[in-house]
Amino acid sequence: MAVPKSKISPSRRNMRRAHDALASNSYHECSNCGELKRPHHVCASCGHYDGREVAEIEA
Ligand SMILES: [Zn+2]
Repeated sequence: MAVPKSKISPSRRNMRRAHDALASNSYHECSNCGELKRPHHVCASCGHYDGREVAEIEA
């Protein structure tokens, strides 16, 4: 088994983890209703995708 030659200091460990944060979700305006929606997802408020209605939204 590979064994580390020396202990990583808390500072080194935390420097490594400085890049571990999750990126926040991206949102874009729906071209039909203007509501914020996830890219490549059907709009949750109007059910449109790619310029046409593909899902029914219960009011
Ligand atoms: Zn919409």
